[in-house]
Amino acid sequence: MPYYEYKCNECGEKFTVKESFEEHGHKRVKCPKCESRKTERVIGAVFAKTSKKS
Ligand SMILES: [Zn+2]
Repeated sequence: MPYYEYKCNECGEKFTVKESFEEHGHKRVKCPKCESRKTERVIGAVFAKTSKKS
């Protein structure tokens, strides 16, 4: 099952959520710290490797 990284816009907390592809996008992700729902998906810049193939 893939992990998705989220960031809370309320307190700035970053956390990972385990979601199946079916679940993803269908449920509200709550911040584990302040329980705000103002969370947004972080698109994998952190884990991405920079490879120059050209
Ligand atoms: Zn928060």
